[in-house]
Amino acid sequence: MFIKPKIKREIYLDHAATTYCSPEVVAAMLPYFTEVYGNPSSLYHKGREANGVLNDSRRTVAKLVNALPENIIFTGGGSESDNLAIYGVARAHESRGKHIITTTIEHHAIIHPLEDLQKQGWEVTYLKVDEEGFVKVEDVVKAIRPDTVLVSVMYANNEVGTIEPIADIGREILKYRKENNTTYPFFHTDACQAAGYINLDVEKLHVDLMTVNGSKMYGPKGVGMLYVRRGVRLKPLIVGGGQERRLRAGTENVPAIVGFAKAFELAQQQIESESKRVGDLTAFMWKELQEKIPKLKLNGPELGDRRLPNNLNVTFIDVEGEAMLLYLDEYGIMCSTGSACTSESLDPSHVLLAMGLPYEYSHGSLRFTFGHCNSKKDVEYIIKYLPDVIKQLREISPVNMGNVKHAKYKK
Ligand SMILES: *Cc1c(COP(=O)(O)O)cnc(C)c1O
Repeated sequence: MFIKPKIKREIYLDHAATTYCSPEVVAAMLPYFTEVYGNPSSLYHKGREANGVLNDSRRTVAKLVNALPENIIFTGGGSESDNLAIYGVARAHESRGKHIITTTIEHHAIIHPLEDLQKQGWEVTYLKVDEEGFVKVEDVVKAIRPDTVLVSVMYANNEVGTIEPIADIGREILKYRKENNTTYPFFHTDACQAAGYINLDVEKLHVDLMTVNGSKMYGPKGVGMLYVRRGVRLKPLIVGGGQERRLRAGTENVPAIVGFAKAFELAQQQIESESKRVGDLTAFMWKELQEKIPKLKLNGPELGDRRLPNNLNVTFIDVEGEAMLLYLDEYGIMCSTGSACTSESLDPSHVLLAMGLPYEYSHGSLRFTFGHCNSKKDVEYIIKYLPDVIKQLREISPVNMGNVKHAKYKK
């Protein structure tokens, strides 16, 4: 019943889930699997060689975020860095207070540790966001109490691309600490989605802790870092050897760390050109969608500099997300739905719900995230087939999403 494409292409539009490794990154990593394989803690030359490259990688990364090498803790990815920030601060500072502030749209790697801490007697304030997913700076300030030890606000949201006012929040927290003559609360940001598109200068952002991972910026998976400002004590999650300033035991994953540093360096060099390129693709796709498909709603901020340039999150009203996803897969198009990023779960996205989107609308949403491999041809291909898929799905299995008042939508 659907027109099948003559030549099926493979179009990957899920770069916010993960990216492939860029060839330069793979090339940079290779020698550290087979040649320079020593344990960085060993004293003979092969160990020293590995330790040397570990230090080089740490220097590279430190420079990118305007920090010192000793402020960088390499970890096993974004989730681990987030966990280390939350549990690490909580456990090292609980005698001072047991209150943490965060937002309702954080990644589960933040939310789940916090929910766990709540079961252990901690209090957590989840700040609301507006319709576009923005947290208000003054709400953060108002929520700070004498027993608040940590504030954690993500830099850019993985589902709708909202870029939070991290530098402004950081400045206000500094002001609070100065006025109250205290070193608390510390400020953490999860910058996993931001690293490819935004400069991450920890001094300009006034953050004390920052999470970055490799797998969203053409680096390897399972590697990341936590920036930790001098003077911020943490309790480690993993103990054993004394690696990473005793904050993360275990033989360092040298090839992955080398790849991470390389990917981070390349990503930061290409911020301007890549933002422009994928930003144009996103804008083109959104324009075409609006022209060819009725009843759409853009989720998140208007396209522009308050949103990640590669993110397009759209609700196709009266169509079910999973159905669209499966049909698009038939055409070789890969994207994700608003039902969380774990495919096992059909729960509607907590991010879209937090932005006030009705439950049904959240189920009818698709997230397209562009990246290096995409071109205008990809968008043209999608636009050729998607309108018909949507039209037919609306006819054969319409999901009546009703006339939901507080959801603004086009047409
Ligand atoms: C992907 C992601 C994570 C988790 O990173 P992993 O490296 O997969 O553990 C955490 N936070 C955000 C915002 C992410 O996008």
